[in-house]
Amino acid sequence: MTFDSVRGRDSAGWVSRTPSIVDRLRTDEGGRVPFSVEFSPPRDAAAEARLWRAVREFERLQPAFVSMTYGAGGSTRDRTVRVTGQLAEETTLLPVAHLTAVSHSVDELRSMVGAYADRGIRNILVLRGDPPGDPMGEWCKHPDGVEYADELVRLVRDLGDFHVGVASFPEGHHRSPDLAHDTKFLVSKLRAGAEYSITQMFFDVEHYLRLRDRVALLDAEQAAKPIIPELMPITSLRSVRKMVELSGSVLPPALEARLAAAAGDGPEENRAAVREVGIDVATKMGERLIAEGAPALHFITLNFARATSEVLANLGLAVTHV
Ligand SMILES: Cc1cc2nc3c(=O)[nH]c(=O)nc-3n(C[C@H](O)[C@H](O)[C@H](O)COP(=O)(O)OP(=O)(O)OC[C@H]3O[C@@H](n4cnc5c(N)ncnc54)[C@H](O)[C@@H]3O)c2cc1C
Repeated sequence: MTFDSVRGRDSAGWVSRTPSIVDRLRTDEGGRVPFSVEFSPPRDAAAEARLWRAVREFERLQPAFVSMTYGAGGSTRDRTVRVTGQLAEETTLLPVAHLTAVSHSVDELRSMVGAYADRGIRNILVLRGDPPGDPMGEWCKHPDGVEYADELVRLVRDLGDFHVGVASFPEGHHRSPDLAHDTKFLVSKLRAGAEYSITQMFFDVEHYLRLRDRVALLDAEQAAKPIIPELMPITSLRSVRKMVELSGSVLPPALEARLAAAAGDGPEENRAAVREVGIDVATKMGERLIAEGAPALHFITLNFARATSEVLANLGLAVTHV
């Protein structure tokens, strides 16, 4: 690894000028609230082709940034670094690489950051990650790794000119004993040098607003950092049930009942009807979040552009640039 490049210089010795996410959120595009999207590493060639179709669609809509999730494990890891590098090098998008501490020693984590830096990626979303296989299973730190995300924030910051974001949890992280502890640990990640956080998905805007209040009560300085709400336009009842189970978020009973009614009783759920509800819900959440001053809206896309584009159009945020 070329470690000097991690120190913020490219091979010609220039200090990196990659914009930070916070800079991007400040850029006022005609008074519109910025939006961003999350992609996941594709598992095979067909999934990769689908991802690139979504990437090209979103390029026209000019998100403030795009993030790429991270899965531990050899082949996924290599593909994640490769595809995130391609986003930086072959598109007009600003990528944020997710990085987790799962199964990695500190040396491996440093070398991952170096691999990103070598591709010009300076924005990193730092996460602890979940135990492989069972996200709710027992967390075991790598013997030479880090225990909590705040250590990883410091590690990445110490490596040079990186802009770091972290995860926040409007409903509290499933391992936190209560919301007060959860807020305290979020604030310690921000104090460690994170510039913003992106929330876990949620389906009740009150959870986001209460998180913002808790951070403001605990530390006014850190509360000035953007808390970017994450929205997922629901397109399948079956998959949203699975996702909330894995994420620890709650699908409010009234919403679940509405989705179940739309899905119907047939052997296959009525995806068109579920999708209609999902888009309506995400649109209304987006409207409320914008009215409440959210700094941006971050969308889980599952590597599809259509549902998110519809929500963006409903919100007046989809201005196409060819
Ligand atoms: C926006 C977003 C993106 C994500 N992307 C990915 C991804 O790409 N890949 C992936 O595998 N996972 C991803 N996750 C999931 C995330 O890795 C898990 O939720 C993980 O369990 C928590 O990560 P963290 O960074 O918040 O951990 P931490 O901040 O370390 O927190 C973990 C738990 O420990 C508690 N805690 C923190 N510090 C301390 C301390 N000093 N003492 C005691 N307890 C403490 C916290 O309250 C929490 O309960 C993402 C989550 C979000 C919200």
